[in-house]
Amino acid sequence: MSRIVFLNGSFLPVEEARVPFMDRGFLFGDGVYEGIGVLGGRLIENEAHLERLERSLREVRIPNPYTRAEWTAFEEEIVRRNGMAEGFVYFQVTRGVAERDFFFPENTRPTVAMFTQAKAIVHAPAAQTGIAVVTVPDQRWARRDIKSISLLAQVLAKQAAKEAGAQEAWMVEDGFVTEGGSSSAFIVTRQNRIIVRPLSQAILPGITRQSLFRLAAETGIVLEERLFTVEEAYEAAEAFLTSASNFVLPVVSIDGRPVADGRPGQLTKRLRELYLAMATAPALAAE
Ligand code: PLP
Repeated sequence: MSRIVFLNGSFLPVEEARVPFMDRGFLFGDGVYEGIGVLGGRLIENEAHLERLERSLREVRIPNPYTRAEWTAFEEEIVRRNGMAEGFVYFQVTRGVAERDFFFPENTRPTVAMFTQAKAIVHAPAAQTGIAVVTVPDQRWARRDIKSISLLAQVLAKQAAKEAGAQEAWMVEDGFVTEGGSSSAFIVTRQNRIIVRPLSQAILPGITRQSLFRLAAETGIVLEERLFTVEEAYEAAEAFLTSASNFVLPVVSIDGRPVADGRPGQLTKRLRELYLAMATAPALAAE
């Protein structure tokens, strides 16, 4: 079966999908995106992702071409057409096609491109073994709260991680961990306190991160929002990351040093179970 993608209102085989050469996404990285996890063919926390999309679009002043109901219908349809049970839906909205000029073009329609990517989330081997991360300088722009398609700094960060034998980069600014190249970063201290950086323009407001606060609170687990240093991460009892396409993933080594005994921690496992339970519960997952 050929992969079916969505482009500006149409579903078509990927081989037939063409974005014009002068699209500002291509020329300037002028656009924003979203990535939504899919489990059992259902979108996980889609409303929250669409809310973040609306915010990203507002911040960069690209008009939102669709209502939430339309976005949801397109997302559900692309999952159905690709027969995808588990993985994620990716879509981006660019400022559209225009003569190359920095100023916003007038009367230009945003370009919308959407695709699915199948991926094992629940039984991902990394969920059992944990992953290695390495720290790299955070070289991104000053509005990391906007989910911009300009991801060059993350491409470089994650490639550096790969070349160092790791699966994710934890980016560091002024000695403090900001977040992962494509995930939110957490540590658990030896006093069993779960630490995550507070929201600001320095990090993306992760949807999975946000849910973890709610899920943890419901079971009496407290998450503490504060900055943490690389040294604190080295000394942590546990470490983990969250993202829409990984849920909760244990981090077992940082810069080549094992986190505690180098095995996924108990609190991390508990939080992963809580998230999985939410994502597989029909009523909540539809949110
Ligand atoms: N931080 C960054 C830089 C990301 O790119 C992502 C996801 O792509 C996240 C955090 C995690 O966000 P979410 O949980 O919404 O997937």
